[in-house]
Amino acid sequence: MDFGFTPADDSFRAEARAWLAGHAPYDRGRRAWEGVLGAAGWVGIGWGEGGYGNRTATLTQQVAWAEEYARSGAPPRSGHIGENLLAPTLLAHGTAGQKARFLPPIAAGAELWCQGYSEPGAGSDLAALRTRAERSADGRSYRVTGQKIWTSLAHEADWCFVLARTDPESRRHHGLTFLLLPMDQPGRIDVRPIRQLTGTSDFNEVFFDGAHARAEHVVGAEGDGWRVAMSLLGFERGVSTLAQQIGFAQELARVVRAAVENGTADDPVVRDRLVRLWAELRTMRWNALRTLGGSGGPGAPSVAKLLWAGWHQRLGEVAVQVRGAAAGVGPADWSPAAPYRLDDAQHLFLFSRADTIYGGSDQVQRTIIAERVLGLPRQSKG
Ligand SMILES: Cc1cc2nc3c(=O)[nH]c(=O)nc-3n(C[C@H](O)[C@H](O)[C@H](O)COP(=O)(O)OP(=O)(O)OC[C@H]3O[C@@H](n4cnc5c(N)ncnc54)[C@H](O)[C@@H]3O)c2cc1C
Repeated sequence: MDFGFTPADDSFRAEARAWLAGHAPYDRGRRAWEGVLGAAGWVGIGWGEGGYGNRTATLTQQVAWAEEYARSGAPPRSGHIGENLLAPTLLAHGTAGQKARFLPPIAAGAELWCQGYSEPGAGSDLAALRTRAERSADGRSYRVTGQKIWTSLAHEADWCFVLARTDPESRRHHGLTFLLLPMDQPGRIDVRPIRQLTGTSDFNEVFFDGAHARAEHVVGAEGDGWRVAMSLLGFERGVSTLAQQIGFAQELARVVRAAVENGTADDPVVRDRLVRLWAELRTMRWNALRTLGGSGGPGAPSVAKLLWAGWHQRLGEVAVQVRGAAAGVGPADWSPAAPYRLDDAQHLFLFSRADTIYGGSDQVQRTIIAERVLGLPRQSKG
């Protein structure tokens, strides 16, 4: 596929850039910002289907929007899970009623979602999950009981999609169901933030104690949840990898600037690491474009995940190397009330530790490549 941008794409890009510039600074708060994006039709441009309040855009226009968004310095999207994970899943597997109920508020930036997959005993091995969903006698609802963990944005979300076991006799990926449930259920859903290395709490433990989900909000059939859940994970990457790389390029540029300013750019080891990072980022960009164009080859998503996660961690390491001893202490306006307020380099170094875990850990990606690409014998699952 030719990934050149057409004149129509260029004017789409110009419109996106002007709109973003016209809405800076982006200090309204994350939820309000989602509403502003939604009102202008910028949420859901990649759905391939309009009519929900979203614009529709070609693949190259989606790339242009993602790149302009990353360049603008606008905040990370708290609507990402609904827009890029749940919505494509509903478009593929949802009923007409589910699409009509859930897609317009996602497109409007009015309802935020979280992803209830991982559990304390089921992360990489998701099929070991134990959260149960029991159907009511009248068949109209489910009661969900169990614990999820690492649930990003659960403290802000209005809704959660949950993978739960509906057949108590089932094992592994059989007997699971994909349910949509509202988060505002006091006494039945308890969200407890987890404090991270960075001092912030972006994810949570979520306890369900008889939480209520309507039967009409099961996506796919009861017992068919694994297929729906895996299909959702397939949407996890896409044009967002290109936007992510723009963000990476900006982070690298900041580290280069800091190295020039404080003289560490004269250190041959630092120079070498910076140039390697730059070259690897170029390679990742071409690889992402090739994959989006459909010619990435088998295992391409796993290769891409391995590459960017390791790259980003190495960038974090170079960032603190450039900062030197100062990276080990708090900022000048440190106060006990905010003991973990971090500068860019510190935050990058600490947060990037998570990159090789979420979205499929390095070890899991290597297993996928080993089994599906190299044809090595399958790992036993116990
Ligand atoms: C920042 C962040 C955000 C997240 N957001 C969400 C979210 O919104 N919703 C959600 O459901 N989950 C979320 N997760 C959870 C994430 O999906 C899990 O952390 C991930 O699946 C790994 O599971 P685990 O933490 O239980 O580790 P484990 O699966 O216990 O793995 C521990 C270690 O063992 C290795 N390992 C495990 N199995 C194998 C194997 N078979 N072969 C070789 N090595 C193996 C792993 O690679 C890892 O190094 C998030 C995680 C992070 C870090």
